Amino acid sequence: MKKDTRLTHAGNDPANNHGVVNPPVYHASTIASATLDERDWRGANRFQEGVYAYGLGGTPTQGAFEKAVSELEGGERTVALPSGLAAVTVAILAFVKTGDHVLMVDTVYEPSRTFCDRVLANFGVDVTYYDPMVGAGIAELMRPQTKVVFCESPGSLTFEVQDMPAIIAAAHAGGARVVIDNSWSAGYYYRPLDQGADLTVQAATKYIGGHSDVMLGTITMAGDLYRQVKSTASVYGFHAAPDDCYLGLRGLRSLSARLPRHRDSALAMARWLETRPEVAAVYHPALPSCPGHEFWKRDFTGSTGLFGLLLKDGYSDAAVAALVDGLDLFTIGASWGGYESLILRQHPERCRTATPWTTPGALLRLHIGLEDPDDLKADLEAGFDRLNAAA
Ligand SMILES: *Cc1c(COP(=O)(O)O)cnc(C)c1O
Repeated sequence: MKKDTRLTHAGNDPANNHGVVNPPVYHASTIASATLDERDWRGANRFQEGVYAYGLGGTPTQGAFEKAVSELEGGERTVALPSGLAAVTVAILAFVKTGDHVLMVDTVYEPSRTFCDRVLANFGVDVTYYDPMVGAGIAELMRPQTKVVFCESPGSLTFEVQDMPAIIAAAHAGGARVVIDNSWSAGYYYRPLDQGADLTVQAATKYIGGHSDVMLGTITMAGDLYRQVKSTASVYGFHAAPDDCYLGLRGLRSLSARLPRHRDSALAMARWLETRPEVAAVYHPALPSCPGHEFWKRDFTGSTGLFGLLLKDGYSDAAVAALVDGLDLFTIGASWGGYESLILRQHPERCRTATPWTTPGALLRLHIGLEDPDDLKADLEAGFDRLNAAA
């Protein structure tokens, strides 16, 4: 069956649920056993799909959500986590110990970077940041101790698309696992596991949730890695709440309807913005000017609603604020992937080491929501008028 058909039904089991289409929201700490033998059996088999031993490990509610995300990402098993950041940290912690080395893309989501610099560094795990455009050159950065090569494609803030097959081949040749933050594509327009990545991570808070009302993360992988990842999540005490997993599953059901709309509106806006005299560059993976556009064309089947916009140099902070603060439809906010449009000013110069950001001009990040793009254009046009008036 085709992708959208599978996503419409994955994880649902009405025949075992009184005919109710959606899975029930099980609130659970205790999972009861009838006998001590059953109790032992549950404990011993708790990593099997559909076996539950204690609330922390999840219930059929988490199970239904995880099954649907596995279908989306093309993996065998998924672990739901309480946030995208928790998914990032667990995916790394599952495979490193003191003395190991991690290769981290320089354009990673900034809190993922903070985790490396604070937690991993304190625990004696060495981290090297690398250029997102490194490609096969990652081989030269590999060490015998390199256990994880972490990718995020496209990168946060500047949207470089990575040459994943080249990176995966070099990482595997050196014995490292490849983890990729796949939040931008939602797993709907890119499936890194199909290209050999070991783990794909998503902030399900973003497109999977889709409605700006839930914190949720996912790690999807082949079955043989599941035990290690799930047990890592458990020893840290992570648990994705059943209500949130229910919302995640509900959001996932409409991905195939929402994402093409985000894609089309964002592309139209990006192309229009490229023609504006105030704009120095638009960073959008589907535009030929985006670094790694050729990899996006090769590996992705679509684009989503988030992209960057660089204003020409010379506008004052106050002029940029006049543009942004006066917008009616674009909310100033960070958690993209919802139905509404967002805007933020970004500062890559504060969080890059391998590829220092020296490009002049104010960088804005736009998320194009489900509004009519004509209204969004009018809102931004008025913003450009304020920008010019204040300049
Ligand atoms: C938002 C985001 C995260 C973190 O997700 P939360 O659920 O907010 O913790 C991770 N990676 C990327 C690329 C993100 O944009």
